[in-house]
Amino acid sequence: MIKDFVSFVQDVYSTDEFIPLHVPRFEGNEKEYVTNTIESTFVSSVGAYVDQFEDMIADISQTASGVAMVNGTSALQVALRLAGVKDGDEVLTQALTFVATANAIRYNGADPVFIDVDRDTMGLSPDAVQEFLKEYGEIREDGCYNKQTGKRIAACVPMHTFGFPVHLDELLTVCDNWNIPVVEDAAESLGSLYNGKPTGSFGDFGVFSFNGNKIVTAGGGGAIVTDDVEAGQHAKHLTTTAKKPHDYEYYHDELGYNYRMPNLNAALICAQLEQLDDYIENKRALAKDYSDFFGRKGIKFRNEQADTRANYWLMCVELEDRKERDDFLEKTNERGIMTRPIWQLMYRLPMYEDCLRDEQQNAEYLEDRIVNIPSSVRVE
Ligand SMILES: *Cc1c(COP(=O)(O)O)cnc(C)c1O
Repeated sequence: MIKDFVSFVQDVYSTDEFIPLHVPRFEGNEKEYVTNTIESTFVSSVGAYVDQFEDMIADISQTASGVAMVNGTSALQVALRLAGVKDGDEVLTQALTFVATANAIRYNGADPVFIDVDRDTMGLSPDAVQEFLKEYGEIREDGCYNKQTGKRIAACVPMHTFGFPVHLDELLTVCDNWNIPVVEDAAESLGSLYNGKPTGSFGDFGVFSFNGNKIVTAGGGGAIVTDDVEAGQHAKHLTTTAKKPHDYEYYHDELGYNYRMPNLNAALICAQLEQLDDYIENKRALAKDYSDFFGRKGIKFRNEQADTRANYWLMCVELEDRKERDDFLEKTNERGIMTRPIWQLMYRLPMYEDCLRDEQQNAEYLEDRIVNIPSSVRVE
């Protein structure tokens, strides 16, 4: 099997050299746009590409407002603050995620509470959230509280793992019933659809990342999207040091951040976003080929759920058990095909080991079995 897999991937990418998990491609207007910023001298945090990017990301995510950010982590941090998360609050999220999700919660002085994922989506489970709230939740005047800890449950952060949308309808219903704002960590799912609507547009806020390993990249960058135009303006204000516009005075009316995306990076992401649809089509075709290949081998390739369109940012297989997983990882990496296990669960990390959590049956099941395989856009 390993031998066949190695030749299959080498064939896909037409090379017998090292094959990485995910690399960016710059074959559109990237050079032209970046050069424009240099020639205009507007390389920093003010410039036409920043504005253009904000329009593009709002358009792609079908939301009223898009705000450029320096990266996805800071976008999450600010979105949580705008959702009302404060020092001493709790925030529900999944343990099966990239560390930035939990970090952004902590940056606001809140504690992540880890709720299990669904096996089918690999993202936050609405049933598990409901179970947890039935046991510990209590609705008070200013929101939902955890009866046991006495802390406010200020937000819920589902993450669309590898571009596969969580069960959004069910999750939104639960959070709505319990009066809990939703911030979607859509860092991995740009362009993924749930019932025909883009991920990131379902929660009170949605957050994207344009890091170098994501489906499209700004070099580094992020964005907040929201239908709440006022909140969008507040996001912009907060991330530009909360400076009040004035001809010459420096006056800042609250604790802001310098979380702006430079125009240089915005130029790159504008050119990349022009190609997003092509990238997704390309990846979906690759996913189909992988699915056929692994189907013949009796190995489970993870496909999208009904009623969703996944962007297939990072593709993955589900192996039999931990031993098979380790064997697959070792043999493929040894042969120059880069593969990676899914993340270690957040409560295995020293800074999150004491956090509240429910039973993590599905998260632990997936942790033992999921392996990412090379997923870059294929050269045609
Ligand atoms: C990449 C990623 C982020 C963070 O984005 P950066 O731009 O790298 O800060 C957050 N959450 C998830 C799930 C991610 O994959």
